[in-house]
Amino acid sequence: MEKFEVNILGCGSALPTTRHYPSSQVVNIREKLFMIDCGEGSQTQLRRSRLKFSRLNHIFISHLHGDHCFGLIGLLSTFGLLGRTASMHIYSPAELETLLQPQLDFFCKGIDYKVVFHPFDTNVSSLIYKDRSVSIHTIPLQHRIACCGFLFREKPTPNHIIRDMIDFYDIPTFAINAIKNGEDYTLPDGTVIPNSRLTCPSAPPRSYAYCSDTIYLPRLADTVRGVDLLYHEATFANSESARAKETFHTTAAQAAQLAKDGAVKRLLIGHYSARYEDESTLLKEAREIFPETIAAKENLCIAL
Ligand SMILES: [Zn+2]
Ligand SMILES: [Zn+2]
Repeated sequence: MEKFEVNILGCGSALPTTRHYPSSQVVNIREKLFMIDCGEGSQTQLRRSRLKFSRLNHIFISHLHGDHCFGLIGLLSTFGLLGRTASMHIYSPAELETLLQPQLDFFCKGIDYKVVFHPFDTNVSSLIYKDRSVSIHTIPLQHRIACCGFLFREKPTPNHIIRDMIDFYDIPTFAINAIKNGEDYTLPDGTVIPNSRLTCPSAPPRSYAYCSDTIYLPRLADTVRGVDLLYHEATFANSESARAKETFHTTAAQAAQLAKDGAVKRLLIGHYSARYEDESTLLKEAREIFPETIAAKENLCIAL
C-alpha cells in the first residue's frame, strides 16, 4: 500500500512545557509532505523526524494563535539558508499574509524561493488543495478566533488487473486501461467477460481529519464520518469541562463522543493543557467512550 502517515511534531497547547512542543504535524502521502500548523520548534522537530525538508511544499495553518504559527518565520528562514528554490504554499485564514509578509521582507531578504499565500474563508468548507492522489478540504471550527480543521481524502485508485486472467483470455495491452476503469471485455467471438473476473478491488481510499482548536461541535460527526483517523484536540479533562466551554476548547470525553458518533476508525487526541503532568487521565476518559483512542506524543508516526 502507498504511504499515508501522520507524524506528530508537537501536541501541546498555548503554554510552553518541557514535555511538549506546540501544535505541528506532517502528513506524508507518497513522500509528498503536508505540514499542518507550525508552532515554535517545528523546524527542530522536523529535523528530528528525518522527513526530507525538500519534500515539503505545502503548509496548512488552522488559525492565528501563536501555538499554531509562531514557528513559521524560523522554518521559512531556514529554508532560505538551505538554498531552497521551490515555492512554498501556505494555506491559512486571510490575515496571515499581512502579519508574515513584513517579517519575510525584513528577515528573509534575498531568499531564492517564493512564499505563496492561499487564504481561505473559515466559515465554509472548501476544497483548498488537490493533486492526483489526494484532496484537502477545510473543516470550519468554532474557536475564539476564525479557525478551520482539514480533511485529507485519498483519491480512489483503479481496480487491480488479475494477470492470469489477462493471459488466459489473451487480452491485448491496449484494452487494459478500460478494464482497470471498470469495463467488461468482449472476446472476438462475442462472449462478454465481466469486469469482476478480470480485476480485484484496490484498497479503499483512506482519509484523515484534523480538528484543532474548537469548542465541542457535535455536528462535526457528519463531516468526519468513517475517517480512518481523526485527530481532535482534547485540551481538558472532564473536571475542567466548564473551562473548556469558556475557552472554546474540547474535553477528551467530548472528542471521544465525536469519534463514536462519527464512527471513525481511530481517534488521536492532543493539544493537551499544560496543567496535566501526563496525559493518562485524558486518555482514560476518552477510552471509556471510544476505546480506539491513541494519545498523541512527539515523534509518533501513525500509518493509515
Ligand atoms: Zn492552540
Ligand atoms: Zn487556539
